[in-house]
Amino acid sequence: MKYNRVIVWFKNDLRLHDHAALFSAWKESSEIIPVYCFDPRQFGKVDLGIEKTGHFRAKFLIESVDNLRKNLIKAGANLIVRIGKPEELLPELAVEFQAEAIFFSEEVTQEEKSVEKNLENAVWKKGIETKTFWQSTMFHMEDLPFPVSQTPEIFTQFRKECEKFSQVRKSIEKPRKIKFPEIGIELGKIPELSTFGLSEPSVAKKGVLPFVGGEDAGIQRLQSYFWENDCLKTYKETRNGLLGPDYSSKFSAWLALGCISPRFIYEEVGRYENERKKNDSTYWMIFELIWRDYFRFISKKHGNKIFQIQGIKDNVDNWRKDEKLFRKWADGMTGIPFVDANMRELNATGFMSNRGRQNVASFLVNDLGIDWRWGAMYFESQLIDYDVCSNWGNWMYVAGVGNDLRENRYFNILKQANNYDKKGDFVRYWITELSKIPGFDIHQPSDLSTKELKQFGIALGGNYPFPMVKLGVKEKSRY
Ligand SMILES: Cc1cc2nc3c(=O)[nH]c(=O)nc-3n(C[C@H](O)[C@H](O)[C@H](O)COP(=O)(O)OP(=O)(O)OC[C@H]3O[C@@H](n4cnc5c(N)ncnc54)[C@H](O)[C@@H]3O)c2cc1C
Repeated sequence: MKYNRVIVWFKNDLRLHDHAALFSAWKESSEIIPVYCFDPRQFGKVDLGIEKTGHFRAKFLIESVDNLRKNLIKAGANLIVRIGKPEELLPELAVEFQAEAIFFSEEVTQEEKSVEKNLENAVWKKGIETKTFWQSTMFHMEDLPFPVSQTPEIFTQFRKECEKFSQVRKSIEKPRKIKFPEIGIELGKIPELSTFGLSEPSVAKKGVLPFVGGEDAGIQRLQSYFWENDCLKTYKETRNGLLGPDYSSKFSAWLALGCISPRFIYEEVGRYENERKKNDSTYWMIFELIWRDYFRFISKKHGNKIFQIQGIKDNVDNWRKDEKLFRKWADGMTGIPFVDANMRELNATGFMSNRGRQNVASFLVNDLGIDWRWGAMYFESQLIDYDVCSNWGNWMYVAGVGNDLRENRYFNILKQANNYDKKGDFVRYWITELSKIPGFDIHQPSDLSTKELKQFGIALGGNYPFPMVKLGVKEKSRY
């Protein structure tokens, strides 16, 4: 053994399976101290009075940490939990409990990188080593067919090169028995939502899934989506759905916190192809996971630019900063039912479909011309599956300040509603005040006659707003 005692610092990798840092510590050290730090900088209000981490995501995180502790206990160890800055807490723990090294996974964006750097500086002075591991993507960074600084800007090029020249590594086995030092370390209580000034979200019975955080629930979701309900074989046809648990995998929340590993999903797709069926749908699940990789490598390549108004292009800042308009969007009160239904789903459950995200994002940036970063910030707060690279990358993309310059990212909301919610069931589900309007008419209440409005119990400007913009007028993106 190279070390007597190593700290494994868990971050967005809250699992035991396919965990490179934990596995290496298990191989190289006699004893392991697993630690998780709730960083107060991730909580509290940011610009526009928005919570940095909203209650859905915070609850999911707390559940995930709790499940990690249970699984570590099953493996013979435990999880030390602290509230505070990791770059201060970890050096203190390492000194107090004589750990010789700290192992952790590498992140890519500014806030996370600066914590890693400060930690490295703090422990280096004390003679404690740090060792970082790449483990958030399906393709390992070292296996890319180009240096990460040369990541192709166009997704299709990125995907084709990875598919042709790289292989997904085998996932790493779970450590069997972990030796945890018996030296009376205070374990620390897992905080509650109120610790961060957050309220318990009301149980959203209307949500697509009862999302429960943790490795066990993540693996169970895969089990039910792939194996019990056999949904993988039709994923490509259903993935643009809006209602119900099974139109898409809903893996995103577990992926975001690392409760499930993308390589494990990749292997399970392969197993499904061998044991059940191989078709376009099974491939498409991998295709979507490549999007996730792409945004992570693009974020690593461009650094802070992904948070800046001009994105990775040099567009001038001609975005509107109108808080009143923004609030109507955020509250699902734009008077455009397809946008409002999606925003109300997000606010009530912490989740929104991919189709919904594209439409509401396009509406905010293209129809209202509002600063795209406000939308990204709002999603960061509300989404249960918030992932820094996927979120800011997708927002840049829709806002036209991102990568794929060939595509026009303007979404014609009515056309989209016609394609994906023709009978209006999704809008009817989320906007009860419009529920009496039959069929597609529900998407355009302002086109109804006074008599019809009365008949359906709608008062425009009263119980449902007038539309903020006239739809279908603008066909082109702002760029
Ligand atoms: C404006 C905007 C913001 C977004 N913010 C996030 C975010 O914060 N976190 C997040 O995980 N996804 C984000 N997405 C991507 C996508 O909407 C979600 O990953 C997807 O809806 C999650 O549902 P699912 O797990 O059922 O997806 P599935 O359709 O089942 O896809 C499987 C997995 O592939 C990955 N994936 C699919 N589409 C994308 C995509 N466009 N970009 C990156 N990865 C993708 C996800 O990890 C997903 O879990 C965003 C998209 C848009 C347009």
